[in-house]
Amino acid sequence: MCKTLDGDEPVPWNYFFGWGDPTLLPDYFTQVSNGKHKHVAELVYPFPGLVDNWYRLSKTEADYRDDPQGDIFDLQTFLEDCLARADDDPNIPWELIGGIRVVANFDYNWATGSPLYANLGGISRIWPVTLLPKFAWSNLHVVTHEMHHAEQGFGHSITWWDKRLNFFDIMSENVNLNSCDNKHPLYGCLPMGPSSFWTSRANWTTDDRVYFVDPEPSIQTFILESLHSGDNTGK
Ligand SMILES: [Zn+2]
Repeated sequence: MCKTLDGDEPVPWNYFFGWGDPTLLPDYFTQVSNGKHKHVAELVYPFPGLVDNWYRLSKTEADYRDDPQGDIFDLQTFLEDCLARADDDPNIPWELIGGIRVVANFDYNWATGSPLYANLGGISRIWPVTLLPKFAWSNLHVVTHEMHHAEQGFGHSITWWDKRLNFFDIMSENVNLNSCDNKHPLYGCLPMGPSSFWTSRANWTTDDRVYFVDPEPSIQTFILESLHSGDNTGK
């Protein structure tokens, strides 16, 4: 968590404990990956590497605005400054860190998730990194969407006519965060899971979740069920 020189703390640092709380989001990655991807944040609660304070940066919010009108944030510099601050923290167990979620104290209508090569804690490697302004970290749907970008390299879902805009596929873009069905009072819209296109690409789809069409007979009936709800046996 990083706050600008002139910024306050929108929530106490321990708000982010909730991201590792198994009662909030039980085994999200284990479920959507059919057990093939276990996420360390879900295995240990409170999860290792959670920073227990907001780092104060040396620049103001205005310093990160990089155009004369002042309405475009230089998020890349903010990210680098925040990671440099974390690198100075002797309490982070870098060897246990699978990925990094950078939380900003300000709001902005854009968030990112991508792999980033960096030396942190003396370890040079590619780290999955998400950068989360307030609208993003206050909706676990967005946090998880960015984690899929950063960790699995998923892109955005499109149909043949347009972008996909629904909560049934977490890689949809521009969903309306005011209208999700599963809204948590503290953690906003909760993630439902990636579509079968993405689970197949990540090799998370098991054959028992796939309906193989037999060309004979020509008329066949099968039941189509939600991929990430119920007993996880649908196709
Ligand atoms: Zn995205």
